[in-house]
Amino acid sequence: MNRFAHKLSEQSISLRRVRPEILQVNMGKLCNLTCVHCHVNAGPKRKEIMTRDTVDRIIDWLANTEIPTVDLTGGAPEMIPDFRYFIERVKELEPARHVIDRCNLTILLEDGYSDLAEFLAGKEVEIIASMPCYSAENVNTQRGDGVFEGSIAALQLLNSLGYGIDPALPLHLVYNPVGAFLPPQQAELETDYKRELQKHFGIVFNRLYTLANLPIGRFAAYLRHTNRLDEYMRLLIEAFNPATIEGLMCRNTISVGWRGEVYDCDFNQQLGMQWNNPDRSGIFLWDVHPDSLKDREIMTGDHCFGCTAGAGSSCGGAIL
Ligand code: SF4
Ligand code: SF4
Repeated sequence: MNRFAHKLSEQSISLRRVRPEILQVNMGKLCNLTCVHCHVNAGPKRKEIMTRDTVDRIIDWLANTEIPTVDLTGGAPEMIPDFRYFIERVKELEPARHVIDRCNLTILLEDGYSDLAEFLAGKEVEIIASMPCYSAENVNTQRGDGVFEGSIAALQLLNSLGYGIDPALPLHLVYNPVGAFLPPQQAELETDYKRELQKHFGIVFNRLYTLANLPIGRFAAYLRHTNRLDEYMRLLIEAFNPATIEGLMCRNTISVGWRGEVYDCDFNQQLGMQWNNPDRSGIFLWDVHPDSLKDREIMTGDHCFGCTAGAGSSCGGAIL
């Protein structure tokens, strides 16, 4: 039993699914950046890319459900050749579905993507954008030289299209710590971000989500390299907060990989914790009946302490 499962059993907590509300699709590991904290190990040389056939199978499955929200992530999902096709097909479904793009901002300014922001606005796609700080130094340390300046220009572009202003075009930012510590209080940091981005760059946005870094992927390698992995795990374990369990994203989200395989969350996906049949063969989205998921036990590991520390952490920011 992993330490997280042990902690749950000690406190008589059972972590099980409720009705699925979000289909989170990781379209591949291709990205224009190589951030230090990346749990996906994404980068420009990765070859894992969702095919048209897999996109079609996912949409056909989704069409037979009433799951209201589709959350696209990667890598930089916008770099997957069928990214726009995916959104166009989702937007044709009845009942209507809400689409989220988890965007690293800089992709909006890359060569070949000059009409991307306009496309997203035209389809009323919500944007959740990584912005680990409002200061250039911290952002460039974590994400690479020039990323801060690019992110600011991209946010200004999004504002010019109505993002963060028009209620149909929500624009949320994501903060994650630049080192081995937990995020500060979300509401206070949101106030600071709003003030600083407005004052220096005239930028507006809706909400700030604070996310903890999970000790997996490139962030785990960084912690190992600096001899801080044990210390960080201790910090997470000591900050375990049972009140976060109810709001964990794995309870109402189905996470799908670039080949259509299914996981409890994007972190489990990066750790290869695919759902299995009793014969150990892997489960794909098209093998799953959405009504059969309620009460399904969630697969956990030590990394889950990253979601339950302090105020908790999920795709929608702090849980509490
Ligand atoms: S954190 Fe996001 S933007 Fe950075 S390398 Fe990973 S997927 Fe790309
Ligand atoms: S990593 Fe977080 S979201 Fe994923 S299964 Fe563990 S607790 Fe749930």
